Amino acid sequence: MRQVAAGKVTIYSRREMMDVVVVDGKARGIIVRNLLTGELERYSANAVVLATGGYGNAFYLSTNAMASNVTAAWRAHKRGAGFANPCFVQIHPTCIPVHGDYQSKLTLMSESLRNDGRVWVPKKTDDHRNPADIPEAERDYYLERKYPGFGNLVPRDVASRNAKEVCDQGQGVGETGQAVYLDFAEALKRDGSESILKKYGNLFQMYERITASDPVKEPMMIYPAVHYTMGGLWVDYQLQSSLDGLFVIGEANFSDHGANRLGASALMQGLADGYFILPAPWGIISQKLVRIARRLSPRPLLRQRRRSRRGSRGSCVIATGKSPVPAGGLLSP
Ligand SMILES: Cc1cc2nc3c(=O)[nH]c(=O)nc-3n(C[C@H](O)[C@H](O)[C@H](O)COP(=O)(O)OP(=O)(O)OC[C@H]3O[C@@H](n4cnc5c(N)ncnc54)[C@H](O)[C@@H]3O)c2cc1C
Repeated sequence: MRQVAAGKVTIYSRREMMDVVVVDGKARGIIVRNLLTGELERYSANAVVLATGGYGNAFYLSTNAMASNVTAAWRAHKRGAGFANPCFVQIHPTCIPVHGDYQSKLTLMSESLRNDGRVWVPKKTDDHRNPADIPEAERDYYLERKYPGFGNLVPRDVASRNAKEVCDQGQGVGETGQAVYLDFAEALKRDGSESILKKYGNLFQMYERITASDPVKEPMMIYPAVHYTMGGLWVDYQLQSSLDGLFVIGEANFSDHGANRLGASALMQGLADGYFILPAPWGIISQKLVRIARRLSPRPLLRQRRRSRRGSRGSCVIATGKSPVPAGGLLSP
């Protein structure tokens, strides 16, 4: 937004990208629909950058906003941009379960809740008793039972898989049976409600507003939901897709950083892509950085510079030391 304020970037909001314009095998612009007037508009450019998010909404319900709907990536794919690792989807274990037919998305609850909340289901199948009426001996704290070393803090994929498994076995709770309890009773007793509310007060409030149930009085109900996609449009180390001139950043690409998503930050990838990687192939990198790189590593820099002058991949002058052959598979469009 700083660049917008400085007059260097113009935002055209309320536009949906309909197509990538390809001229002589290179991306040279986009066609968008103006969502206010309904008219099609065209924008030409030397290169195109897609930053249009992941494909979580290819699944029926996800934690993504509805406008993050993978339409742009799909249209680019149809124009020749390869897609990679599409099966690599993260399922988040701590979402508020589906609660109606007219729902467009699922609400994510912070995983920090698993620090103090205990996950359980009734041992018996089809047990519709109130949670307070189910004695300890008839509860299955399945994560603590199966993974005593980690308990409720198992990684996201393990927590998600196990929740689905117990629900598939008929031990799920709530109206749909597609939910497990996340219970704070013990933590509230141990630490007192003041301390627990200090840590999670806003989350408890949010949960209560959505479900009309107070987590201080009865356990939360949670269920896994599609949350983040690590696959996406294939890119090389300069973030260029297999369609020349089309660059892809953030969750929309198949990303190295996102592959580590279970332990790292997706937002970090967006920042790294935008600040450090994307400017390089476009030759926007400042002379100061070039000087630093030259001082640190004169030879590879010169080699890289010669290579980039010859090639069509822009004018990257900083040697990264990375192999130009990307990790991960490439699917042809
Ligand atoms: C509920 C939730 C919580 C999260 N929490 C965390 C967290 O704590 N830490 C973390 O690291 N990550 C978190 N993530 C993941 C992280 O927010 C995303 O990975 C990141 O925001 C992706 O950024 P992006 O810019 O690549 O895409 P997005 O932020 O998804 O932006 C894509 C944009 O492109 C627009 N768009 C899509 N298609 C078109 C089209 N055809 N034409 C025009 N525009 C289009 C969309 O409307 C949207 O504005 C969370 C995600 C969600 C959904």
